[in-house]
Amino acid sequence: MTQDTPHSATELLRKLISFPSVSHQPNMPLIQWVEQYLKSFRAVTEVQAAAGDPTRANLIATFPDKHGGLQGGLVCSGHSDVVSAEGQPWRSPPYVMTERDGKLYGRGACDMKGYLAAVLSLAKEVSELSLERPFHIWLTYNEETDMQGIKELVASPTGRERLQGCLGCIIGEPTSMQIVYAHKGVYFHEYTSIGKGAHAALQTSGYNANQAAGEMLTHLFALQQDIATNGPFEEGYPVPHTTLCPSMVHGGVVYNSITDKCTIGFDIRNIPSDDPDRYYANLKTFVSAQNDRVVKASAPLEGCGTSLQRVEEVPAFGGRVDCALVRALQAASEEKDNLVKVNFCTEAGYVQQTGIDVVVCGPGDIAQAHQVDEFVTEEQLIKCCRVLLKTITLLCGGKSKSSI
Ligand SMILES: [Zn+2]
Repeated sequence: MTQDTPHSATELLRKLISFPSVSHQPNMPLIQWVEQYLKSFRAVTEVQAAAGDPTRANLIATFPDKHGGLQGGLVCSGHSDVVSAEGQPWRSPPYVMTERDGKLYGRGACDMKGYLAAVLSLAKEVSELSLERPFHIWLTYNEETDMQGIKELVASPTGRERLQGCLGCIIGEPTSMQIVYAHKGVYFHEYTSIGKGAHAALQTSGYNANQAAGEMLTHLFALQQDIATNGPFEEGYPVPHTTLCPSMVHGGVVYNSITDKCTIGFDIRNIPSDDPDRYYANLKTFVSAQNDRVVKASAPLEGCGTSLQRVEEVPAFGGRVDCALVRALQAASEEKDNLVKVNFCTEAGYVQQTGIDVVVCGPGDIAQAHQVDEFVTEEQLIKCCRVLLKTITLLCGGKSKSSI
């Protein structure tokens, strides 16, 4: 770190935006820069390279308590990757932060390098606190795609050890500093029906894959209707129950052939109190009955059949409201009635599965995320610094001399 090293949240954001850390591309230069920055404030750091890929990594940094302890305390966590800006007509270069009218523009300004910049700007202050409990900063990779970073981080020996006795984790996705305590889960599935192709005129020579797929579609829509009618229900969402959307159907390429393959892609978004596995089990049972009954009966042809696979999942998140983490954040925040549920997905479900309290709270508006000319306002950034420093002091102890 040199004399030119930035320390204010705005200047730190400028630095973070300058790393084009698009998901699935190397984020190591960003991770290494942040590691050196935090080390200069005596944080204990660990860079965790992605399984099988040395170009991407998570970072775990800990400011120990006054006795040198590294377990428990508070975690501030954010993803280091951003979505691509390719093909978007930006007014200014996406990886060069530009200021216009109190807004800071750049890819990731809002989602979510703004939060990371705010957290990093507190490093000096935190390092001077006499902490009763440790304070941790996590940076993850690939949040925008498969969330591999957070999965590996919470399962790692260091991650597990530091989480022992933790009071909570704040994931700084853009919520305009509202405190999010729940969101739905997302599960993608692919159903495949294999038939036997033949000329359309030779009806008895083939088996049409679209037939079994059609039955599956009917079943999916019936299940969708059943959930909408019978619930379970949970208030706080625009649609207050689990949703099921058969979103893609692909079968056949020409008019005059019996179709040999048909796939159906569908999306299930469960409320936290509903178990997505029960739908998966229901559909698996349907598929196996279909294989036994329909496919074999109508198509005694080798290789014909149907199958179902879950291809992507992000667990739902339903956090406790009555806990030290929420009480501290509410005391530190400047608004009342700011506990909300949201529609977008985060890494919170994975962290919650470790048994600690989690909230999602960060600067900027989710409407800006992934957009052309993405920005965060300076006002939100400064507010985030203020709220976080108070929260850290409340949960980790120590006296703050700050006048932020
Ligand atoms: Zn994000």
